[in-house]
Amino acid sequence: MSRIAYVNGRYVRHAEAGVSIDDRAFLFADGIYEVIEVFGGRLIDEDGHLERLARSARELRLDLPVAMTALRRILRELVARNRVAFGHVYLQVTRGAARRDHVFPKPGTPTTLVAFAHRGDLAAAEAKARAGIRVVSLPDIRWKRPDIKSTSLLPNVLAKQQARDAGAYEAWLVDEKGFVTEGASSNAWIVDGEGAVVTHPADSAILSGITRATLFRIAAAEGMKIVERPFTLAEAFIAREAFISGATTIVMPVVAIDGRKIGSGAPGRVALGLRAAFHDFAPASA
Ligand code: PLP
Repeated sequence: MSRIAYVNGRYVRHAEAGVSIDDRAFLFADGIYEVIEVFGGRLIDEDGHLERLARSARELRLDLPVAMTALRRILRELVARNRVAFGHVYLQVTRGAARRDHVFPKPGTPTTLVAFAHRGDLAAAEAKARAGIRVVSLPDIRWKRPDIKSTSLLPNVLAKQQARDAGAYEAWLVDEKGFVTEGASSNAWIVDGEGAVVTHPADSAILSGITRATLFRIAAAEGMKIVERPFTLAEAFIAREAFISGATTIVMPVVAIDGRKIGSGAPGRVALGLRAAFHDFAPASA
């Protein structure tokens, strides 16, 4: 079965899908994107992701090329055509194709919409969560608007590669004041000495994760206290637990930061509990 992607109104074989070399995402990374988990064949937290896409579009003065109802249909079609039970759908909107010039193309230039799906390995994800992941800390050298989910991800790419080169799965980015903002592709969390679950406020320094928002609802339902405040690397080193969240990882326990063992060095109870509860809480749409 060949993979099927969506490009500007057409379903095409993934391997043959393409856009113009004049596309502004190719030339300037002038685009936005979303990644939505597919679990049990359903789209998880779809509304949250599409609302954030609309916000990213507004912030960058980008017009979405199709209505939200059409977008929802496209995503379902990709899940069905690619027979995804567990995996992800990716969608990207760019400022379209135009002769290379930094200024926006002339009004009416169609924006580009690309979407595709991939199947994941649920057993491998669960095994990873049972083992826990290692992270390394790196300076947060990104632009000042990482709250916009833009395809301009070069600092994130470099950080992630540096993490892999160091034998870690994720990089935690540290701002000029010494606070951990978030991961290269995830939000960052600790459980402090008092048992409070702590994560950076969703201001312009981080991407306001949709998974993060669902974790807030789980915590509220379970009477768990989440504190939104910046935390330092020093605090993370002595935390009871640490973990990351995101649509591709849901909740992944962190067992070491910069080679230092976190808590007992095994995945923590809070992280594993939130992971176990996640799909009972997160809205799933067929
Ligand atoms: N922070 C960054 C930089 C990300 O790239 C991501 C996800 O890709 C997240 C946080 C988590 O966001 P979400 O839970 O919406 O996937």
